[in-house]
Amino acid sequence: MFFENVELSDDHRLGGVGDGFKVAMNTLDGGRIGIASQALGIARAAFEKAVEYSKERKSFGVPIAQHQAIQFMLADMATEIDAARLLIWRAALLKDRGVRHSSESAQAKLFASETATRVAHKAIQIFGGYGYSQEYPVERHYRDARITEIYEGTSEIQRIVIAANALKG
Ligand SMILES: Cc1cc2nc3c(=O)[nH]c(=O)nc-3n(C[C@H](O)[C@H](O)[C@H](O)COP(=O)(O)OP(=O)(O)OC[C@H]3O[C@@H](n4cnc5c(N)ncnc54)[C@H](O)[C@@H]3O)c2cc1C
Repeated sequence: MFFENVELSDDHRLGGVGDGFKVAMNTLDGGRIGIASQALGIARAAFEKAVEYSKERKSFGVPIAQHQAIQFMLADMATEIDAARLLIWRAALLKDRGVRHSSESAQAKLFASETATRVAHKAIQIFGGYGYSQEYPVERHYRDARITEIYEGTSEIQRIVIAANALKG
C-alpha cells in the first residue's frame, strides 16, 4: 500500500507519537492467535475426515482403523491438536487479561500452524491415493495449512520472537 500526501488530524492517530512500530507489533500479537485458531480448525477438519475414512475403508479384510500403523497416526494427530489448542487458550487468556503475550502468541501460532501441516499430511496418508485427489477434502486442508505457516509472520519469524523473549529473561 502506498499513501502519498495524506494528512490526518491528531484525533485520527492510533497510539502515541513514535509508537507506530509498537502498535503494529501489538496488533500482530493478537492476529497470531487468530491464525493459530484457523490452523487448529484446519487440523481438526483433517483429523475428523481421517477418523471417518479409516472406519469405512477396508484393506486386508478389516477397516484400516484396525491397523496399528493407522491408529498411531491418529494418536499423534489427536495429541498435537490438543497441545495446539492449549497453547492457543493460554495466549488468548493472557490477551483477555491485558498481559503481554508476544512469546505465547508466537508459540501458539508456530505450533498450531506446523501441527496443521503435519496433521493434514498424515490425513492424506490415511486416505491413500484418494488423499491426493481433489475429490476428497484433505488435499485442500494440506494447502490451507501451509499458508498458516507463512502469513502473519512465517515460522522463522515466530522462532525469532520466541528466542528473543527466551534470551531476554
Ligand atoms: C494468501 C496470502 C495472504 C496474505 N495476507 C496478508 C495480509 O492480509 N496482510 C499482510 O500484511 N500480509 C499478507 N500476506 C503476506 C505475508 O504476510 C507474507 O507473505 C509473509 O509475511 C512472508 O513475507 P514474504 O512473502 O515477503 O517472504 P520473505 O520475507 O521474502 O521470506 C522468504 C523466506 O525467508 C525467511 N526469512 C525472511 N526473513 C528472515 C529472517 N530474518 N530470519 C530467518 N528467516 C527469514 C522467511 O521465513 C521465508 O521462509 C499474505 C500472503 C499470502 C500468500
